[in-house]
Amino acid sequence: SSTVHQIQSGQVIVDLCSVAKEVVENSVDAGATTIEVRFKNQGLDSIEVQDNGAGIAPPNYESIALKHYTSKLSTYDDLSELQTFGFRGEALSSLCALSRFTVVTCTQQEAPRAAKLEFETSGKLKSTSVVSGQRGTTVIVEDLFRNLPVRRRELERNVKREWGKVINLLNQYACVQTGVKFTVSQQPTKGKRMILFSTKGNPTTRENIINVFGVKTMNALITMDLKLELVPTAGPLSRGKARADGSATEVRVLGHVSRPTHGEGRQTPDRQMFYVNGRPCGLPQFAKVFNEVYRSYNASQSPFIFADIQLDTHLYDVNVSPDKRTILLHDQGQMLDNLRESLIELFETQDV
Ligand code: ADP
Ligand code: MG
Repeated sequence: SSTVHQIQSGQVIVDLCSVAKEVVENSVDAGATTIEVRFKNQGLDSIEVQDNGAGIAPPNYESIALKHYTSKLSTYDDLSELQTFGFRGEALSSLCALSRFTVVTCTQQEAPRAAKLEFETSGKLKSTSVVSGQRGTTVIVEDLFRNLPVRRRELERNVKREWGKVINLLNQYACVQTGVKFTVSQQPTKGKRMILFSTKGNPTTRENIINVFGVKTMNALITMDLKLELVPTAGPLSRGKARADGSATEVRVLGHVSRPTHGEGRQTPDRQMFYVNGRPCGLPQFAKVFNEVYRSYNASQSPFIFADIQLDTHLYDVNVSPDKRTILLHDQGQMLDNLRESLIELFETQDV
């Protein structure tokens, strides 16, 4: 029933952050090199994400917002080797159930004739009309939680905190996505649109961080490329997947971290951004190691951290929670021990 659908949808789309996350990840999956996120009234009125990705082909208009429809998973086996962010086919269907939902899309073939698609709460295609447009997709989410009054009131009440969280998350995408022009803007109910930050399609995360946080922040960071050697151990995630020659697996930690110096003018924002293979996620255990090692050099400050843990897809599992925010890492203990040693070595070889 439609009520059941709304309740279940509330598990994928729980707040403003999950809307931004799902829609931006779809743009990334579509191969976009420009992604523009536009808020009206801090998302309370609308969130619009426009990309220049592959677009959606006409035969798929009917199905994209149906529950469990996905174009990204061809065989069940793929689940463990996933490269794309999405794969459950739940985001668009949930957004239909929880907002006024519109998609404008255009493939290379159709350009400059784009299709404007409107959907019913069930995810069924309601109407299609022709508008002009370039290759890519724009997703428009209006009146989020309009049919869940308690959740809607909660969102309005916590809008300050929610807004902070969603900007944090978009900062994270903007910093990690190299080769993507990422722009975020906001328009108050009365007043004109303001660009909050943007990246320029840079080839490096370094330049992205400069665009988002400023050159001063970047200058106070050390760039890291840590290699953590993992000795193979038996475990559920490694069964049958261990390297044939039994050699150690390598995990890389790429990114930037505050130089642990006491000097003034070296203050960095205490922003901490963690990723697994470029996918933003919370890694509290990793954060703990970074903070502990850093504080043994500089007890008065928290470090800025941008850390992308790059590892084989068999060494982790993101299918733990519907929002994919929880990640299970195989042999995390060994990774953390190695990380601690490598970080100490990195800081020791710096002029601090
Ligand atoms: P999933 O990402 O898990 O496949 P979604 O509900 O997020 O499921 O999206 C459903 C489908 O809609 C996708 O598989 C894709 O085919 C299409 N789609 C959604 N957003 C975009 C986009 N920005 N560009 C191209 N196709 C998209
Ligand atoms: Mg998706």
